[in-house]
Amino acid sequence: MKLIKKETETEGDKRQHFPYVLETNCPKCNNEIKRDYERDHLSYPIFGKEVKEYLYCDECEHEWYFLIKPSIKLELVTKNDSKH
Ligand SMILES: [Zn+2]
Repeated sequence: MKLIKKETETEGDKRQHFPYVLETNCPKCNNEIKRDYERDHLSYPIFGKEVKEYLYCDECEHEWYFLIKPSIKLELVTKNDSKH
């Protein structure tokens, strides 16, 4: 049994959530910024492709972006073909 990774692009959902939290600080005023991707989402992300994400600081009204790359993985647990 084998699982072969295809080279086609897979698109996520309109509201694609991830079990990750981003923690950073505003580059201007050092205010703590958090983005919880279980609450927030990426919209139709292409798995394996970089996404430009914008952050906004409420304290000093600074806006900036960072790059993030969503991925999707399928792991084969059964290694050998089983007979029934
Ligand atoms: Zn700020």
